This record gives sequence, C-alpha cells and structure tokens, in this order.
Amino acid sequence: MKAQPQASHFIDGEYVEDTDGTVIESIYPATGEVIARLHAATPQIIEKAIASAKRAQKEWASWSPAARGRVLKKAAEIMRERNRELSELETLDTGKPIQETIVADPTSGADSFEFFGGIIATAMNGSQIPLGGDWAYTKRVPLGVVVGIGAWNYPQQIACWKGAPALAAGNAMVFKPSEVTPLGALKIAEILIEAGAPKGVYNVIQGDRETGPMLVSHPDVAKVSLTGSVPTGRKVAGAAASQLKHVTMELGGKSPIVIFDDADIDSAISGAMLGNFYSTGQVCSNGTRVFVHKAIKETFLARLKARTEAILIGDPQDEATQMGPMVSLAQRDKVLSYIDKGKAEGATLVTGGGIPNSVTGEGFYIQPTVFADVTDDMTIAREEIFGPVMCVLDFEDEAEVVERANATEFGLSAGVFTADFSRAHRVVDHLEAGTLWINTYNLCPVEIPFGGSKQSGFGRENSAAALEHYSELKTVYVGMGKCEAPY
Ligand code: NAD
Repeated sequence: MKAQPQASHFIDGEYVEDTDGTVIESIYPATGEVIARLHAATPQIIEKAIASAKRAQKEWASWSPAARGRVLKKAAEIMRERNRELSELETLDTGKPIQETIVADPTSGADSFEFFGGIIATAMNGSQIPLGGDWAYTKRVPLGVVVGIGAWNYPQQIACWKGAPALAAGNAMVFKPSEVTPLGALKIAEILIEAGAPKGVYNVIQGDRETGPMLVSHPDVAKVSLTGSVPTGRKVAGAAASQLKHVTMELGGKSPIVIFDDADIDSAISGAMLGNFYSTGQVCSNGTRVFVHKAIKETFLARLKARTEAILIGDPQDEATQMGPMVSLAQRDKVLSYIDKGKAEGATLVTGGGIPNSVTGEGFYIQPTVFADVTDDMTIAREEIFGPVMCVLDFEDEAEVVERANATEFGLSAGVFTADFSRAHRVVDHLEAGTLWINTYNLCPVEIPFGGSKQSGFGRENSAAALEHYSELKTVYVGMGKCEAPY
C-alpha cells in the first residue's frame, strides 16, 4: 500500500522537495507498513514558505471579505465532492476506521470552510464611535502570517479548523502537520489552490519538534495556533510570549463526565463510550473520568461491559469496523503502560486491558478498556492517557463530585447526565472547563466555540469567536477641527 505524495511540502501553489531534511516515515497503523517517505523542512524550506505567505497575505487581505468567502465555500464544495478519497487518505494517515472518517473528518473540515466562508462577509465589520464633533471608527484587521501546528488525531480537521478562520480573516497560514500524520494537510493546500486561493495563502511544510520552534520564533510570524499536549503548549506559548506573538492553545485534558442516578442509563453509557472510544480514544476532549452515582453503578458497569465487548475491532478499511488501531506503536505502548499502572494501583479491570486476540499482524491495536473503583489519586485518574481507557469513579453527593471533577490542572471539557435540568445547569455552572455538554458528549459542530481553560489552553476554535483570535482591532480617531496643544 502506498500513499506517497508528489513531494513533502506544498508552498506557493506547488509541491516542493528538499531531500536534505530528516526523513519522516508515514506508517499505516493497521499494518505497520511504511506508506510514504517525506522530509522535514530545512531552514531553506521554512524561509521559502514564510516568504511566500508574507507576499500572498498582502494580496489576499486586499480582497473583499465576500470574495475570500467564495474561495472558502468552493473549497468546502470540493472537499465534499472528494469526501471518500479524503476519508480513505485520513484512514491511512491515522488508522481510524473509514466508518468514522467518512462522517467526521473531511466533512468537519468542509463545514469549517463553509461556515467561515459564509459569515466573513459581515463578520469583519468595525464600529463607528461618535465623540461630539470628532469621531472614531474601528476596523478588524488580519494579523499577517500565522502558523498552525497540528496533532495527529484529526489531521485534516485541524488543518481546516485553523486554516478556515485564519484565511477568512485575511491572514496567510503556514501549517505544519504532526510528523506522525503528514499526509492529509497537503490535500487541503491543493484544494484551496483549486478553489481559487492565491498561491502562498496556505502553505504546508512537514516537520517535527525540531521544526516547530523554527516556525514559532520566525520574526515574520504574527501568531501561532497549536493543537497538542500541555508540555508542548508550555514550550510554544513560552517561545511566542518572548516575542509577544498571539497564540491559540488547544491542549490536552482529563475531562469529567458526571452521571447522576436519575440519568437515562443507556444514553449515559452511549455518552461515556463516545467520549472514550471514538477514534480509539485519541480525542482531546474525551471524558476519561466517568463519575457514576453509586446507586446505578452495578447496572451501569454491567451494560457498559457488554456494549464495550461488542465493539468491532479490525481493518479500518472495512466499513463494518468500529474501532481501528492506535496511531503509532509508541502511543500504544504508552497506553499499555498506563493500563499496567491502573492494575498495579488497585483499580478493577472490568474489560479489555491488553491487545485484542481477534486481530493478527503488526497493527497497533488495543482493546477498549474500562476500569472501575478508580480513586482520585490513581495515576490513571490524573494523567491524560490518550487511548481507549475509561476510568469509572463512584460518587454519592453533588457538591462532592463537582469538587472532585475540578481537582485537576486540566479544564478542556466536561459532561453531565441527569434528568433534572436545574441540577444540570447548576453543575455545568460549577465545572471548570471550556466546553461542556448536557445529556450528550463530544459533539463539536462548527457553530459553537471550542477550547479549554486552565492548563488545557486558551483561545477558541470554531464559531465567530475564532475570528477574534485571527484578527485585531485598529482604531482610528478622526479630528474634525483644528488640533489644539497647550504649548
Ligand atoms: P504533541 O504536543 O506531541 O505535538 C503536537 C505538535 O507540536 C506536533 O506537530 C509536534 O511536531 C509539534 N511540536 C512538538 N514540540 C514542539 C515545539 N517545541 N515547538 C513547536 N512545535 C512542537 O501532541 P500530539 O502527541 O501530536 O497530540 C496529542 C496531544 O494533543 C494530546 O495531549 C491531546 O489532548 C492534544 N490535542 C488537543 C486538542 C484540542 O483541541 N484541545 C485536539 C487534539 C489533540
């Protein structure tokens, strides 16, 4: 199986190679096979990408917002037409089952281009401020060249969630996908050119943790938007702060889902499974600490176990497959070591806990795993595992569970399942998180802001709020009379 792109980078409207860069192997997680060999960007490639973006941004920002919007909407249309092809590539890049990628990845990217392409015609308006005789007005202006750095769990979606608002606002973007999933973003760059974007407005360069800092510290870069882990976020935000650059940080989490005894149990189990097993558990907003009221614990666990054991694990290209492998061997090993810690620290293994017998070969498969009787101090309840490992914790009292749910440095997401709507709103009010759900979990349509609080980051993606993070206000004071001075 091969998925070799024409070249490693896409700059100024074309594929570009520099074989002096470190080799990046793209590995198909279901078989362990190398499906493409690319090269990390050399300093020359980085200069070329930023210079091209800098030049293109001036022209792009001079277009009317509606004209920019037309290009983005066209890109959305092309992505929808090529949904199958893009989904198949996403499956090769990540190992996620085609059943998921066909509904969740390019489609979500297309939603983003369509949404920002649509709202931008009115979203860049400023205001007029009367000051007696004088007056002032504000303009919302782009930042310039912005850098996007992606994680490996949603490569195409991240490339679009950052690219769409950035481009809509009149910026140019240099996007660096994760070195683990280098393929999808190149297609997004190609599609934008086909949709009519000027060359250089969206460049993609490959690279790893050595390449990222060169982009972040480049003097011509005005902003960095990172999706990644908290430790990487600290480094990137620190480097950007030293040059006073704008940042958006979409980082990790250890989010709580609180399930009260009056909740619809099957619906709550669906929420907990969605929030732990989708994308083989590799979702930042996952609700990995599931607090279940003691009164329903046994029923909850029995039904959860049966449903978890019925998940179809296997070939991601088979449309019936519900769970594919993890993205890499290293990530699978990391998750297995957390499972060992859970066992060693005394959590009860309800199901899973290892490599499935049903799948043969070299793929990075792992069983969806549920631990019960997890306590707040256990490693598996405190650290982000980023794999299909659900921790079920008991609780009895509302105030107690809120306090325990908040006792973490993370604050990305949270969920509540209950039939009592006053309680639902009261609890979400007290939970410390950026994105919360009541009686559902992990739904992130483009219309709603998405992002974290506390150590999970700052800035918001999606919705009109994202545009504020890719633009700034310019204020103009208009003096209507003679300029007076005391000297
Ligand atoms: P990571 O932090 O290892 O890497 C993220 C990206 O940062 C990669 O492209 C990497 O090459 C780059 N990078 C690493 N060090 C860098 C540096 N010093 N300077 C600049 N760039 C650098 O994360 P990952 O393992 O790819 O992804 C998993 C993490 O991402 C998890 O913690 C997950 O929760 C988080 N995540 C967050 C969101 C969100 O929206 N909040 C979404 C998806 C994933």
